Amino acid sequence: MRVFKCSHCAHHLRYGRRTCSVCYRRTPMVNTNKFWLAMAAVGASLLWAVVLYMDEAFAQKLEVIRPELRSIQAMLV
Ligand SMILES: [Zn+2]
Repeated sequence: MRVFKCSHCAHHLRYGRRTCSVCYRRTPMVNTNKFWLAMAAVGASLLWAVVLYMDEAFAQKLEVIRPELRSIQAMLV
């Protein structure tokens, strides 16, 4: 899979290589698995933070409408 180009010689880099196979200079970070693993970790923790935040917001909303829920329940019973 050749997605990224070498920033020094424009050679299409083989994915995962840390150095260009033509000019032997370091490839950009995006060409390494390490970079994408780090990105996945950041993405997952962000998603987790959003889920926790949503959960908290939902719990607060439920707390606000609790008296209404009680009165509805009282009407039904
Ligand atoms: Zn190169």
